[in-house]
Amino acid sequence: MPKNMLKDTHSPYDPDNIFAKILREEIPCRKIYEDDYALCFHDVTPQAPVHALVIPKGAYRSFSDFTANASDEKICGFFRAVKQSVLLLNLEKEGYRLLANHGEHAGQEVPHFHVHICGGGSLGRLISENKTHK
Ligand code: 5GP
Repeated sequence: MPKNMLKDTHSPYDPDNIFAKILREEIPCRKIYEDDYALCFHDVTPQAPVHALVIPKGAYRSFSDFTANASDEKICGFFRAVKQSVLLLNLEKEGYRLLANHGEHAGQEVPHFHVHICGGGSLGRLISENKTHK
């Protein structure tokens, strides 16, 4: 297991996680879009020609935490911010992939809910061929 991988999906939100620090502007980021609900910035280790992250402005550990505990307005605002980020990244026409890791099996490293936006070139299959499960 990679050393940064998040193990416990049920522990309390850690206010010192790296994305919380980015939201508080304690750590810089390459900002793409921001509104009342979300912040979008470039991933520091891009795994696609375009690789951005969108995070909600609130203390949510993962997709499950966010969708269970955020208000309808905040959930709607967040996903509209994802769409706005896609437009600003010019990915609408050629296509893009959204991905959110929750917990250990997904390999979530940062315990603040985030959606990856990947695009800018062909991304291949979601899971490599030799890892399919029948
Ligand atoms: P996860 O595996 O949790 O879904 O993805 C975490 C992502 O956050 C990774 O793609 C990683 O490259 C990115 N990341 C980790 N630390 C930083 C940072 O300090 N700044 C930025 N911009 N991205 C980060």
